[in-house]
Amino acid sequence: MKVSGKTQIFGIIGCPIEHTLSPVMHNTAFEALGMEAVYLPFSVRPEDLGKATMALRALNVSGVNVTLPHKGAVIEFLDDIDVFAKRVGAVNTVIQKSGKLHGYNTDGAGFMLSLRKDAHFEPEGKKVVILGAGGAAAAVAMALSDAGVRRIVVANRNKDRAEVLTKRIRKYYDREAIPIALDEGRALYWLIRESDLLVNATSVGLIGPDKLKINPNSFHDKLLVFDLIYRETQLLKIARRRGSKIIDGLGMLVSQGARSFELFTGKRAPFRIMKTAVEHAIKYIK
Ligand code: NDP
Repeated sequence: MKVSGKTQIFGIIGCPIEHTLSPVMHNTAFEALGMEAVYLPFSVRPEDLGKATMALRALNVSGVNVTLPHKGAVIEFLDDIDVFAKRVGAVNTVIQKSGKLHGYNTDGAGFMLSLRKDAHFEPEGKKVVILGAGGAAAAVAMALSDAGVRRIVVANRNKDRAEVLTKRIRKYYDREAIPIALDEGRALYWLIRESDLLVNATSVGLIGPDKLKINPNSFHDKLLVFDLIYRETQLLKIARRRGSKIIDGLGMLVSQGARSFELFTGKRAPFRIMKTAVEHAIKYIK
């Protein structure tokens, strides 16, 4: 890697940041395109987020990705955000141009690309259950609403957050949006039985014990189960055994990264090269 006074600096801010796959994905892409650019991980504590965004300006950092827990909080420190990020209420990509910080959200586009390309699933007119109501769930919900799904159920541990997200969906889209608590087992069972797509957008399987309490009889052979976590979680294992189609979050990770890369550089992302780099790196974090 060549580093000189002209090297463009990109990175990712989050906390914790140790396990991120984004540096390997982006640095491999820069190298493949012969770009003089570098992508670094920045561990930023929540109380330092304001100072970190000031530093991006002061150090003329060209762009960063934003991950947990800063995707929502970073918005107040930016100069503007695009329409989709505003709907989601979360930013995962920041670009600096002429001293101004512009925010975007590529999680929704990454999810849709993987859903269509990897799982061959067309969401228009379909019924969907989303588990979770955090930033990723909001991006998925808005992207699916945009794509014309018929009904979205948001099932969350904290039902109040599910209600907030369904209200947000209805604010922007004319869609049936139903909030439910994860522990409303019987109602959730029927809603999944009637659905075409189940998305796990909780962090269960990534953080803490990998045990999401979904009735195994909910799964059926017309159901696609999409887990945003990039490995085969317990949920995916059970769904597969019950005859559902399954997909993990690796394709989404690369797709949202590729979209960020294109926003960062204005160049077409070398998707396959980025995917191979991530698949290789992932073996070492299991
Ligand atoms: P948030 O912290 O914003 O949301 C976490 C969600 O998980 C909340 O709905 C929370 O429920 C729920 N949750 C946490 N612990 C439990 C539990 N023990 N039981 C039930 N529900 C639980 O995180 P994000 O939305 O940003 O990310 C969610 C997941 O999506 C992460 O695993 C992340 O890695 C993944 N992701 C993957 C991407 C990809 O490219 N593949 C992109 C973005 C995210 P509550 O509200 O009740 O606390």
